[in-house]
Amino acid sequence: AKKYIATPSRTNELLNTFGLTAKKSLGQNFLMEPNILGKMMAAGDIDKTTDAIEIGPGIGALTEFLALYGRRVLAFEIDQRLLPVLDVSLADYDNVEIIHGDILEAELKDLIPTKLPDSNRLAVVANLPYYITTPIIFQLLESQLAFDVFVLMMQKEVAERLTAQVGTKAYGSLTIAIQYYCDSKIAFTVPKTVFKPQPNVDSAILKLTRLDRPRVEVADQAFFFELVRSAFVQRRKTLWNNLRAAYGLDQDKLDQIRFALEESHIDPKRRAETLTIDEFAVLADHLVARGF
Ligand code: SAM
Repeated sequence: AKKYIATPSRTNELLNTFGLTAKKSLGQNFLMEPNILGKMMAAGDIDKTTDAIEIGPGIGALTEFLALYGRRVLAFEIDQRLLPVLDVSLADYDNVEIIHGDILEAELKDLIPTKLPDSNRLAVVANLPYYITTPIIFQLLESQLAFDVFVLMMQKEVAERLTAQVGTKAYGSLTIAIQYYCDSKIAFTVPKTVFKPQPNVDSAILKLTRLDRPRVEVADQAFFFELVRSAFVQRRKTLWNNLRAAYGLDQDKLDQIRFALEESHIDPKRRAETLTIDEFAVLADHLVARGF
């Protein structure tokens, strides 16, 4: 039987052989449970027509599954120390390429067509470094690259925020930003006990399926996102108070905000967490029409 990298014995063996300990500052928590990786492959429908981009291969636990289930893997690892480990741990796979570097600095627009020519289906699959979960997700979503699906392990609490229902405490500007680009759901949760070292919190697998076009059409996308963020700055305060703080420079601006809310049929006394993405889109467009 095959001994996967994602087992306690192989993980310890690799770390010991190379004299490595996990770097907390890089969010290194190595997964040691192959069943979870099998479930991630199923969640993303990873098959031999799927190319995968992986962020942070670590010692190769998830990379190995992507190599076995998928077509080709392009993995970005920031920690130089792990490159010789990956050379050994993934020596049996000829469909994996590791790139040394920071995913946030990578020239994906050039790399993907060069390294993965004739791709039919592109998945981003990762056990994310938790210190930069949201910057990575939003950089990839905003990149306009042709990703079909994202299967991302992250802190459970972050996954809950990204998939929250309107009117709940977890619902916020990140939820709306995800809704703008994707359908999203939590595929399953993962106990903290399956990692080395063990993190402080449980994790969850978020599955994002990219929409063909944004969920709402807005006149000014940058303003829409700015409005959403401004509305949630003090989430316990009313929409009116947050908008006044962000945009109400003088009496004229205050009047314009009041009119835009009226035109949008939104009660200024509501809180941001009660507004749907459609309501934010309508409000943003009325504000833009009034010169914001
Ligand atoms: N994929 C492995 C697994 O599942 O066991 C490791 C996951 S570990 C949670 C996160 C990995 O991301 C680490 O290997 C870390 O070095 C790497 N990493 C951290 N920041 C990164 C960045 N900015 N760009 C690329 N990789 C990064």
